[in-house]
Amino acid sequence: MSASLPSPRALPSELRTALDERATAGLYRRRRMVDAVDGPRVRIGGRDLIAFCSNDYLGLAGHPRLVAAWQRGAERWGVGAGAAHLVSGHTAAHQALEEELAGFLGRPRALLFSTGYMANLGSVAALVGTGDRVLEDRLNHASLLDAGIGSGARFERYRHGDASDVERRLEQGSDGRRLVVSDGVFSMDGDLAPLPRLAAAAAAHGAWLMVDDAHGFGVLGAQGRGSVSHWGLDTDEVPVLMATLGKAAGTFGAFVAGADELVETLIQGARTYIYTTAPPAAQAEASREALRLLQAADEARAHLHALIARLRTGAGQLGIQLANSETPIQPLLLGDAARALRWAAALERQGFLITAIRPPTVPRDGARLRITLSAAHRADDVDRLLEALVAVAREEAQHD
Ligand SMILES: *Cc1c(COP(=O)(O)O)cnc(C)c1O
Repeated sequence: MSASLPSPRALPSELRTALDERATAGLYRRRRMVDAVDGPRVRIGGRDLIAFCSNDYLGLAGHPRLVAAWQRGAERWGVGAGAAHLVSGHTAAHQALEEELAGFLGRPRALLFSTGYMANLGSVAALVGTGDRVLEDRLNHASLLDAGIGSGARFERYRHGDASDVERRLEQGSDGRRLVVSDGVFSMDGDLAPLPRLAAAAAAHGAWLMVDDAHGFGVLGAQGRGSVSHWGLDTDEVPVLMATLGKAAGTFGAFVAGADELVETLIQGARTYIYTTAPPAAQAEASREALRLLQAADEARAHLHALIARLRTGAGQLGIQLANSETPIQPLLLGDAARALRWAAALERQGFLITAIRPPTVPRDGARLRITLSAAHRADDVDRLLEALVAVAREEAQHD
């Protein structure tokens, strides 16, 4: 028997073949090493570039008050929590942050997770399992799709942004729980999910709605409460609200907010909550400061929305077609992965860092430049980006 099996090739040569194939397809991923950072200005390979691809939408990640809060937190609590929340890692700093997040969002409770990825994996699996159904927008973030697939519930993807498709699916009655899951703002497209219609569909069929507001929190809604607030929905309509702290809040980590029973259920059952070290208390202190700044950042949000309008108007006048989005995520769809890579390289020669997003992060033929704006950008940065985009479009026209 064993004689007929091919002898396994050595690991490096086996993997090299697969890596080479990936590179040939234009799908090889490379990290860029940043040597210095000052807001959206980054130094890479000895060159100063303006980044238009981070999720630091309010420019808080380097804010001196956050740095100071983190430093004070480290002096008070040390740098590591030392254990999971359920062991000895849950400090008064974590507790205060949870209470402040819940208060800000007008929800009974919030529960911190180490990352958004873990919040999604743990929450979906704690809420649904074998015999249940989970319905997800096709373009949901990878962590939500992984969460749905891994939950053991029947996993269904509905058409992007299509509440009627959700409705049709929910009409096919079934026993068990039904969880409808959507990004609030789609991470690669920047468009908003039709949350009122999704909430109505879920309510009409006794299903629960979970919203991942990684890109709405801090940016949309009154004082940055996010897309659920933007649409005027409450905790009954969106019982499970998840958001991250590593984007507009400028720090790291994530949380789920909702009813006391939801939070208690996650504490009992979310494996990515239970079996992991609590985030550093110092980080929680920095996030508390971030939450204070974020609530008071109406001016930064107004500037950000002015930059979005400036980019869109300018692009329209110059014949550059951006995807239809009113958020800081302003994708330029290019289709082919190799083309997206060429555009990214050409923009870098002009002094801009905008990474090409390729499959499988986006659908096949959906390669794009995911341009993102931050309140830390100046109007002049946007104008220069527009000039660079026009220059690259010209070069490309010759290439095509
Ligand atoms: C970034 C992101 C996450 C993951 O959050 P992390 O804290 O970075 O792990 C989850 N969902 C969406 C929509 C995101 O954009």
